[in-house]
Order: sequence, then C-alpha cells, then structure tokens
Amino acid sequence: MWIVFIGPPGAGKGTQCSRLVDTLGIPHLSTGDMLRNTERNSALGKLVESYIDVGRLAPDYLVMPIVTKRLFEPDCQLGCLFDGFPRTVHQAEQLDEFLAQRDSRIDVVLNLQVAADVLLERLLKRAELQNRKDDNEQTISARLEVFRTQTAPVLQHFRGQGNVVDIHGDQSPDRVFNDILAGLTGRK
Ligand code: AMP
Repeated sequence: MWIVFIGPPGAGKGTQCSRLVDTLGIPHLSTGDMLRNTERNSALGKLVESYIDVGRLAPDYLVMPIVTKRLFEPDCQLGCLFDGFPRTVHQAEQLDEFLAQRDSRIDVVLNLQVAADVLLERLLKRAELQNRKDDNEQTISARLEVFRTQTAPVLQHFRGQGNVVDIHGDQSPDRVFNDILAGLTGRK
C-alpha cells in the first residue's frame, strides 16, 4: 500500500507515522529524517542544512534523488508510508510518474488537520523539549507559511485523484490513530 501522510509542522505526524508503520509493517520514508541524516560536514550536508535551518524547502534536485534511490531498495517494492513528501505539486507529479512506471499509484493520502493556533503552541513546546534547531519562532512561522503556500496545493492535486482522507488532528493521539485506521480500512 502506498500512503502519503500530509500535515503541517506540529500536527503530530511523527507520532502517528511510527504507530502506523508498526501496525502496517511498511517502510517509513521521512524526507526530513533523510535530509537531516545527510553527512553534516559534507558540502551537500551544509547545503541541505542551510534550507532546513531557515524553514525553507530543499530544492527538488536534492530531494528527488534521495527519495528515488530509497524507492529502489528491496523493502520498498510493494509500498511505503511517505512522511513529509511530496511537499510541492512538482514532487507529487514526479512521484505519480515514478509509481505509474511500476503500475502503481498512491492509494491513500492522509490529511492531518490542526488549527493554526494549536500548531504554534505545540511547536513552541516541542522546541523546548527537543532542541531542534528549526523549532524557533521565526523558523516555525516560515515552515507554516511554506506549508500554506507550497504544500497545501499538493492536497488539491491528490483531491483530484479522489484518494484524500481528512483526519481531525486536534484530539488525543489514540483517537487520531483510530480515525486513521478507519480511514485506511474504508479505502482498502
Ligand atoms: P520535517 O522533518 O518533515 O518537518 O522536515 C524538516 C525540513 O526538511 C523541512 O522544513 C525542509 O527544509 C526539509 N524537507 C523535508 N522534506 C522535504 C521535501 N519533501 N522537500 C523539500 N524539503 C524538505
């Protein structure tokens, strides 16, 4: 099963993705993790960091090769959970094309929705707890703005394919997870 998980920063995607991969037993492809794991001291790592640190999207020429290389690995032949990808309509189109070549398509797009003021509050709390360099107030606003302008259109792209399931993210993690499972079951 090919699943895309979309949600603004702070929506609780990380928590739900871990639970989902445990339950479904499919690989978890977090482009944020993959980009953060780029060798820190390499020229590539420094370039990637320069985008992450200010909350801007890394360019497709950096992101797409990392994703496609991963998709050729044996565990990704039958499906995976995309987390933080695609983040632009262009990435979505490239993903569609890649899967079409394998006679596949995205089965479900989970759209985790949380109100903007709740997101900001959650992200500032996470900044205190996790010491993530891109969780300061300025970068958080930049990331929320990037979500609104560049990633929200990805949802429209997938709505056109009729595979989006909206999930109400402002409830307890258990309830959110139950809604996700119900959404997936309804689609299978
Ligand atoms: P995340 O961990 O998903 O919140 O991603 C952290 C940062 O990594 C983002 O703010 C972007 O700078 C970068 N990033 C992650 N995924 C992508 C993507 N699909 N395209 C471009 N940049 C990305």
